[in-house]
Amino acid sequence: MDRLIISAAITGSWPTRQQTPYVPITPQEIASSALEAWREGAAIVHIHVRDDDGRVTCDRDRYQRVVDLIRSAGSDVILNLSTGGGAGTTGFDDRLNAILIGPELASFDAGSVNFGDRVFVNPPDFLERMARMMKEKGVKPEIECFETGMISNAMRLAEAGLIDQPYWFQFVLGLRGGAPATAKQLLHMAESIPPGALWSVCAIARHQLPMNVMAIAMGGHARTGLEDNIYYSRGELARSNAQLVARLVRIARECGRGIATPDEARAMLGLRPRAESGMA
Ligand code: ZN
Repeated sequence: MDRLIISAAITGSWPTRQQTPYVPITPQEIASSALEAWREGAAIVHIHVRDDDGRVTCDRDRYQRVVDLIRSAGSDVILNLSTGGGAGTTGFDDRLNAILIGPELASFDAGSVNFGDRVFVNPPDFLERMARMMKEKGVKPEIECFETGMISNAMRLAEAGLIDQPYWFQFVLGLRGGAPATAKQLLHMAESIPPGALWSVCAIARHQLPMNVMAIAMGGHARTGLEDNIYYSRGELARSNAQLVARLVRIARECGRGIATPDEARAMLGLRPRAESGMA
């Protein structure tokens, strides 16, 4: 089995300080939480940014500040900036700001879905525009699929030459409105992507750890972090992203599965080696 690529979804758009005091909000907090997660073994950090009131924003300067803080700390972690914004509350143009920063990865939500009480709208023309822009800027899409139909949406764009191999899927399970977080669903999705594609799974709240553990056993990859789940165990808040990453690292090692470094993940995902990408 390939080594495990761990993504840490640092802050997301929704957990508030009222829900957990541990969610990072300011660019400094987001960057230091990302660095801690990287030190524990995350090869990828998935980043959203918040405004001064803690609300999600797609502000380009804020994204840039987080990126600069992480890079100036000497980290080689792979940056995955969110194009999702506030899932149904952010304008399409704003959502593309993340791509303009030029991260190695950006999330690519491959279709529309009910998202709790909202609708996360990703119409075909927007997906095409976003895929085109990512291709032009050399940003690899992390194809987020909330249900199986989104795999087909992405593959149509791949056939049109807008998404390149190796495809990198993130299955998002257990969201109210999307596919449920069950073993059967995960297996079905993993078997529905083209040969040679890589997949990772993230799941909401109490489903996070069981789905991550299944991915470890199945040869997939895993995303953890406070964006998807603020608890370490029932009734006990996770104190940091690093704590969640450290647990996955321990479990994977106990299962005999090594942890991919950022450079190993780059090679697996077909990203350019750091020396060529001009990264410090
Ligand atoms: Zn996200």
